[in-house]
Amino acid sequence: MSETILLDHGAGGRASAELVASVFARHLNNPILAELDDAAVLPAPAGRLAVSTDSFVVDPIFFPGGDIGSLAVHGTVNDVAMRGARPLYLTAAFVLEEGLPLADLERVVASMARAAKQAGVAVIAGDTKVVGRGQADKLFINTTGIGLIPDGVEVGAHLARPGDAVLVSGSMGDHGVTIMATRQGLGLEAPLASDSAPLNGLTAALLAACPGLHVLRDPTRGGLATALNEIAARSGVSIELNEQAIPIDPAVAGVCELLGLDPLYLANEGKLICLLPEAQAPAGLEALRAHPLGGRAAVIGRAGQAHPGRVWLNTAVGGRRILDMLSGEPLPRIC
Ligand code: MG
Repeated sequence: MSETILLDHGAGGRASAELVASVFARHLNNPILAELDDAAVLPAPAGRLAVSTDSFVVDPIFFPGGDIGSLAVHGTVNDVAMRGARPLYLTAAFVLEEGLPLADLERVVASMARAAKQAGVAVIAGDTKVVGRGQADKLFINTTGIGLIPDGVEVGAHLARPGDAVLVSGSMGDHGVTIMATRQGLGLEAPLASDSAPLNGLTAALLAACPGLHVLRDPTRGGLATALNEIAARSGVSIELNEQAIPIDPAVAGVCELLGLDPLYLANEGKLICLLPEAQAPAGLEALRAHPLGGRAAVIGRAGQAHPGRVWLNTAVGGRRILDMLSGEPLPRIC
């Protein structure tokens, strides 16, 4: 077999079949995928399903803390988990650029397989297309996730109430700053790594500890500030944050200062925001901190009703400023 991707690999003939067998089926194998028929056939679980789809175009495709393959699993698993669902299945569609080294593709697919295993999901359907040189950049991946929402669980961005405590599971901005620094080839002394991780274990622990939880959200593109603006608008509440309570890694803060970036607007790929009744905040915090991905969890603010849709930041120096939605695109191809 050729050592790079050829147009032939996407033509649906012998080369395509070889690629599927030697890379995709080999790494992602499970009984449903193994049928390799026109559609996967699944048992239908009773209850409500959560479905989410996302395309991943991150540049570079390998970065400290992950790669486009693990990110494509985590991003979609996390969106499904943010509705309180237990992720079960993923589909994966690949757009490959002619000339992509086969070794790079294999590294990405093996990483996807490890990430899926860790998250407890099976990749049950897939597709591969190849485009000519320059018509795509190395590879793009689309994943769709399907999860089951347990009975009685009702979480969504529209369910925040005045008086809710606002929690985050850890430090903000790690993924965005890592991609930016890697892309710019900054030879930084500070060890930066993406936080890319599956959050379904964390959400399950949180839902078990706090059955009255209102909102779960992963602050990906647009960061914490944009996600909270969406929640405030959808729920008709205001949100007030204490800057000093928001965990930010010193290395991330340093690079942000150097590059003129605000960590509150940078993408995270392994952190969640949670809004829940104030009385349940201690239990929520405890559940988050007991999990390996939530060690730096913190209560960072509170929802109110004074200015519905507004997000305020009480700054470390005693000021007060409005945190607006992200406008423009400071970091294209971040995920
Ligand atoms: Mg999301």
